[in-house]
Amino acid sequence: MLQQWAWAKVMLTVILLVGNGGGTFPNLVVDKQIITIGAVLPPNTVTEVAFRSALDRANMESEKYQFTVQVAHAPFGDSFAASKAACTLLAGGVVTIFGPTDPTSASAVEAKCREAGIPHIQAVWRPPRPRGEPQPEPPGINLYPEAVALSKALAHFIKDSDWNTYTLLYDDDLGLIRLQEILKHADPEHKWFVRRLLPGEDNRPLLKSLKALGETRVILDCPPERVVDYLRQAREVKFFEDYMSYIITSLDAHTLDLDDLRINLSNVTCLRIFDNEDSITKSYLYQWKSRNTENVPLPTDTHEITVEAALASDAARLITDAVESSPDDYIKQEELELECNSGSKWPNGEEFTKHLLTNRPVGKTITNEIVLDEVTGQRTVFNAEVMELSNSGFNKIATWNPETGFDYIRSAGQTSDLLAEKWQNKTFKVVSRIGAPYLVERVPEEGQEFFGNDRYEGYSKDLIHEILKETLHLNYEFEIVPGNGYGSFNKETKKWDGLVGHLLERKADLAICDLTITYERRSYVDFTTPFMTLGISILYTKPAPPEPELFSFLKPFSVDVWIYMGAAYLMVSLLLHVLARLAPNDWENPHPCDKSPEELENIWHIKNSCWLTMGSIMTQGSDILPKGYSTRWVCGMWWFFALIMCSSYTANLAAFLTNAAMDDSIKSAEDLAMQTKIKYGTVNGGSTYQFFRRSNVSIYQRMWAAMESARPPVFVKNNDEGVERVRKGKRQYAFIMESTAIEYQLERHCDLVQVGGLLDSKGYGIAMPFSSSYRTAVDNAVLKLAESGKLMELKNRWWKAPEDEAEKCVAEVAGEEGATAAELGVSNVGGVFVVLGIGCGMAAGMGALEFLWHIREVAVEQKMTQWEAFIAELTFALSFWETEKPVEHPKSSSSSASSSNPASRASSVLRSAANLFRLDVFK
Ligand code: ASP
Repeated sequence: MLQQWAWAKVMLTVILLVGNGGGTFPNLVVDKQIITIGAVLPPNTVTEVAFRSALDRANMESEKYQFTVQVAHAPFGDSFAASKAACTLLAGGVVTIFGPTDPTSASAVEAKCREAGIPHIQAVWRPPRPRGEPQPEPPGINLYPEAVALSKALAHFIKDSDWNTYTLLYDDDLGLIRLQEILKHADPEHKWFVRRLLPGEDNRPLLKSLKALGETRVILDCPPERVVDYLRQAREVKFFEDYMSYIITSLDAHTLDLDDLRINLSNVTCLRIFDNEDSITKSYLYQWKSRNTENVPLPTDTHEITVEAALASDAARLITDAVESSPDDYIKQEELELECNSGSKWPNGEEFTKHLLTNRPVGKTITNEIVLDEVTGQRTVFNAEVMELSNSGFNKIATWNPETGFDYIRSAGQTSDLLAEKWQNKTFKVVSRIGAPYLVERVPEEGQEFFGNDRYEGYSKDLIHEILKETLHLNYEFEIVPGNGYGSFNKETKKWDGLVGHLLERKADLAICDLTITYERRSYVDFTTPFMTLGISILYTKPAPPEPELFSFLKPFSVDVWIYMGAAYLMVSLLLHVLARLAPNDWENPHPCDKSPEELENIWHIKNSCWLTMGSIMTQGSDILPKGYSTRWVCGMWWFFALIMCSSYTANLAAFLTNAAMDDSIKSAEDLAMQTKIKYGTVNGGSTYQFFRRSNVSIYQRMWAAMESARPPVFVKNNDEGVERVRKGKRQYAFIMESTAIEYQLERHCDLVQVGGLLDSKGYGIAMPFSSSYRTAVDNAVLKLAESGKLMELKNRWWKAPEDEAEKCVAEVAGEEGATAAELGVSNVGGVFVVLGIGCGMAAGMGALEFLWHIREVAVEQKMTQWEAFIAELTFALSFWETEKPVEHPKSSSSSASSSNPASRASSVLRSAANLFRLDVFK
């Protein structure tokens, strides 16, 4: 309701003003006190129109006063003319003087007013009062935001925008002071350059040199009318391009027509202190247009209203409201007519100034509520808005208040939507490097030809397609980085190469491959959230399966152990023999039925002793056992020894044969570091290389020293070269690479193996220049793909080996396992057969010798020739159906004829021999 009433009043005022031809209304108001307000302004300005209009509006609302304006024109920057104009106004009896709009002239007019005790109001940026300089009493009034508060707002915004390095450009002395004020409140850690632009001259060489230095963030301080010229020059030298960010300090920057600069994706922001869209602002502009009798070129739209004009209007409101709220008869015209340099003063001047400082205007002002510092007369409390240039012109992105700071009004989603709108006509340049499985060139079939992005395939291509095309609906084109490098910093040239260098030269918008996010790279380019996590590990070859050995069954024990065992066997057998002869219990009655034998026998001669120890160690036992204490004790000890040795042999034999193919030479990075035979290296200049180079861990430092000093060099150009070197290196070269790449290689090459765990943990990210406006959008897309499982799907697609290759690998593995763990081939146990064969052969030989010895004895006993004895014994032995052999007694010369059967004769010899020695065991 109130609003409608206010509107009705405004419209009525406008109608009356139009009807009156823009003049004041002496004919309508007869008994109002006339109050003259002075203004020193350059001729024909919007500021004057605004000032006059505000007074007209006050006239419409005031019942007591009729405000008239007396404008004295003085050219901009002419302080002499301004002070002369001020004297003219003072002589005319003005209650307050407003203006002029340049700081030097404003100071001159302020001095004149102070002398005459007439309040002075200005609306212009003034440097902060130097420390120690006394504050005049009463203070001059300035409606322009106070310098320190404004600088703080800008410094705060720079900090909020994460700017660490920037260039400050200014083109006049006041600009330099303004920038100094900003720097006073900026983070001391920030790095900055300050450069002066020359108004109206060619600044391109300067801007070009800044571009060459890689500067991307600029704070530009210059009058609004020169902003466009500087930005155009910057654009010509490609210093106003994508990824550049500009903050324009002028509070009028949002009024500029930057249409032709908008197509660039540079981020341009500025501050404004009033809302151009506000209905009050609109009504004022309408009023200005209707009372523009001097045909001053006025803003066509509220967006073109400058701070100066807005503040002139508000100054008029401030004065009229102060007059309105002052006591009756407070302002006497005769007291106001003062002569310059005469020493005469308005007696109420000081008081009226204080009243101006404390009185809050009731009427709506364009720049919101006017709150002035009563001591300094400055406007320290004001609201500001952060404006950002987009396709549709300047848009509000945040509001600022000295007490609460910045309040960002857009959500991340809105920001990226707005930015996405900017990129619709852009084709994103995506730079990558060739390296499977991330990006490989497609091999065309006959008659086929690939163009553009179709020339490549791989994980990187699919991922970028998902992000840019499927998620953000943007166009992109792939290119391969010259040199195919990841990106390393060259200390001599002080330049980055590879993908990082390409981004820094602004030749691409995004870089994607297995590009590791490192601290050093992150200081120069921006990264998205990692799309893959990994760590450094070691790639090595599996050992070749060992040659099968005939006597591998001997391996569980070393040669020494076998020798010691043999010696122990002989010693124990001998000991048993000796002890048995000493032990009374081992001398036994040979004929148990004969209670009083004439002689005792001891069976533990050396043969039986050896037989017992042999039976024990072979775990077979023996049918004869000792009876003496000492001999039983020796036996017990020997059995214990046999038990341990047999179990150790059995256990070790199984383990030994199973692990025959397993190599235990290198199991970790420590093992690599501790030896010099096997060489190892990384990709030259990559993040793995940098990891070792910069490491503080002693093992890795040691490895780095070994790698660096190795001849021939152990560093390779890329992963493929490293893998090739490992495969051909006959286990003399190990390649240190990232676990994801190892995973990929292990899927395809069954001769390769990963040694040890991960040495660190990191991730691959998509890189882009700093301040890329699409960073958030790309980052969000990566997160979205990760959450939906798309990243995993892509990884499986490109990592898993094709069916046929995988099968081959599985088969190979099975083969190896079969050879090592499951079965033992003839080649592994052949030796045992050989031993058996040789043993049997020796037994046969011994049998033959024994037989021949027996023949000789039979021949002697039976008084036969050895040949006859041999034939007879052999014939009997081969008569397999004969199971009994008659005992033949030795032939006396008389009985020799009756014993004609040679076999029976031989048998009797054997029997008599057996009786002689009483060898029960051989019975
Ligand atoms: N991915 C690594 C890089 O970005 C390459 C490596 O060192 O293995 O540099």
